[in-house]
Amino acid sequence: MPVRTRVAVIGAGPAGLLLSHLLGRHGIESVVIDSRSREEIETTIRAGILEQGTVEVLDRTGASDRVLTAGQKHEGIELRFDGEGHRIDFAETVGRAVWLYPQHEVLKDLVAARLAAGQDLRFQVTAERVEDAGTDRPRVVARDSEGGPIEIEAEVVVGADGSRGVAREAVTGARGGHFREYPFAWFGILCEAPPSAEELIYSNSPDGFALISQRGPGVQRMYFQCDPRTDPEAYTEERLWEILQARVPGTTLKEGPVFQRDVLRFRSFVAHDTRRGRVVLVGDAAHTVPPTGAKGMNLAVADVVLLTDALRALLLDRDGSPLDAFPEAARRRVWKAQHFSWWMTNMLHLRPEADDFDRMRQIGELRTVVESEAGRAYLAEAYTGWPLPRTALDV
Ligand SMILES: Cc1cc2nc3c(=O)[nH]c(=O)nc-3n(C[C@H](O)[C@H](O)[C@H](O)COP(=O)(O)OP(=O)(O)OC[C@H]3O[C@@H](n4cnc5c(N)ncnc54)[C@H](O)[C@@H]3O)c2cc1C
Repeated sequence: MPVRTRVAVIGAGPAGLLLSHLLGRHGIESVVIDSRSREEIETTIRAGILEQGTVEVLDRTGASDRVLTAGQKHEGIELRFDGEGHRIDFAETVGRAVWLYPQHEVLKDLVAARLAAGQDLRFQVTAERVEDAGTDRPRVVARDSEGGPIEIEAEVVVGADGSRGVAREAVTGARGGHFREYPFAWFGILCEAPPSAEELIYSNSPDGFALISQRGPGVQRMYFQCDPRTDPEAYTEERLWEILQARVPGTTLKEGPVFQRDVLRFRSFVAHDTRRGRVVLVGDAAHTVPPTGAKGMNLAVADVVLLTDALRALLLDRDGSPLDAFPEAARRRVWKAQHFSWWMTNMLHLRPEADDFDRMRQIGELRTVVESEAGRAYLAEAYTGWPLPRTALDV
């Protein structure tokens, strides 16, 4: 017998869990499945920067009671190039801020809030496909960890299953989407050390890009630009610190044991279609961005806020027009974020084929931003995030 629910959500990442939380506040029942275990979901280190609007949604809807107390508010970032640092002051230019609060902490808060509310949340259940997308009773065909079959029949299926999920196929078919791959990646490390700087430093150096970021008083996150084919184990710890230090002249990095390292490839993707009948894509299932602009998780939250309004109208008021309008509303924000992520990436990273002209032009571009009020304001506005509809906070 299939499990029956109003909304079947594939994926318990930020998009899927937040959607079930916001729907639950309106009395709309959902079932959420994820192929991973709860422990894996709550310990995988990924995003760390939350836009102001994301924080407001998490805090004011009761999705996270820790984001404001355990998260760190940042009112600026530094752009470093040509041997000098230039602070972009978010508070002064746009009166907004971002918060450093790791994605896995957001997920711990969301999982706890959903389980406390009695959410049907099933870990280690893997969706194999979505069927009957064109009807008003779409179905998720899945298997549990022992291989047992599970079918979930719903009024709406939401694919929040990330960039490698199965829902995208049911919505876009062979049409796919817009895709761009970049000729570099980030080598990321997590280390046990005190912070080397109070705010994030985005550094464009003759050796390539580096980002000095923080996680807390004793753990730091840092990245440097590398070849996408780099083996994460290829460098000794000593060499990692040499590379990072060379790319942030003017700051003496506080070193400590490196306990995680990974290579993060740079890709941009926007699906041609994000809805087919009663099946909808949100978050990384619909689009991915390179990490430079810190937009991935924030875009997932923005999609979910818009979709909640659309599903409320459909499921509570029998009004399908907001769902019809959802793909275009989401697409507008997604392309603004794609542009911002692409722009930050190209302004800060060195392409393998770059010559002196390209380097000097980049320095000219960075000067144009930091020496212009309008340039600083654009960066601050996009980085801290465009406003979200206030309806997300209503019940
Ligand atoms: C190293 C790193 C750093 C990042 N830094 C930032 C940052 O600073 N700021 C930012 O905003 N973004 C950042 N991002 C991007 C951000 O992490 C993603 O955009 C975000 O996780 C997207 O959320 P999501 O819920 O759409 O997808 P995901 O988080 O990918 O969640 C999808 C879920 O679906 C599950 N799933 C997949 N397939 C199936 C299936 N067939 N059946 C059942 N379940 C399935 C997965 O297990 C997963 O739990 C970063 C990403 C990485 C990797």
